Amino acid sequence: MTAHGFLLLYATLLGLLVGSYLNVLIYRLPRGISTVLPASRCPHCRARIRPWHNVPLAGYLILGGRCRSCHAPIHWRYPLVEALSGGAFAASFAAFGASLEAAVAAAFCAAMIVLAAIDLEHHRLPDRITLPGLVLGLALSPWLAWSGFRAAVLGAALGAALLSAASALWFLLRGVPGVGLGDVKMLAMVGAVLGWPEVVVTLAGASALGALVGLAGLLLGRLGMQSRLPFGAFMAPAAIAALFFGPQLLAAYGALAPAIDPGFR
Ligand SMILES: [Zn+2]
Repeated sequence: MTAHGFLLLYATLLGLLVGSYLNVLIYRLPRGISTVLPASRCPHCRARIRPWHNVPLAGYLILGGRCRSCHAPIHWRYPLVEALSGGAFAASFAAFGASLEAAVAAAFCAAMIVLAAIDLEHHRLPDRITLPGLVLGLALSPWLAWSGFRAAVLGAALGAALLSAASALWFLLRGVPGVGLGDVKMLAMVGAVLGWPEVVVTLAGASALGALVGLAGLLLGRLGMQSRLPFGAFMAPAAIAALFFGPQLLAAYGALAPAIDPGFR
């Protein structure tokens, strides 16, 4: 195996392992349970999960997707989060090589996966993910090839300002806040890590995705006009797309909106 192939395999395995910890965060953060101390338990029967059943993906397959003690089905989110995390780590290494950028990209994807999963289940975006992400993004920005300190500060400010303004406008029109403060902090974090042009890409992508899902929900009768959509869950895939394909997506938008100059960093 070549050195590159070995590192790619290593990144994938690391991503799978991290993914199994992301599942712990997704379950415990919104419930206020310590994310390090107690061993993993089945949420149905409280049986301890044996270490070899905790092995990412393989544990789920060995168990046939059910708890060994009470046979309750294990939520499909567990293997999905592990697979997504493994894929994100592999993509980060493939895109950026063995670099600081790859580490930041992998950590950023991990944060997006956790935020999306918690937002889908609880309609919350915990500060314990978004605020450290915001600070780390600003702190590392001078060393990131895709960013820079000015792009990061402008990104955080633009992300917060755009969603605050959208929420205020929605409140004026409809009398309810359009998005929550958690969404504002999440887009500020995206801007701090990826830089301001990617905020535009993320917001456009998330809005398009949200409109599609909302429309489909209305047509299928699964959602009403008052249903609140988890906007963070739409921002997460849009932000990951912005991370890997930002310049290409900006060029596509740039053809539509010449005022956006990707060269301004
Ligand atoms: Zn059980």
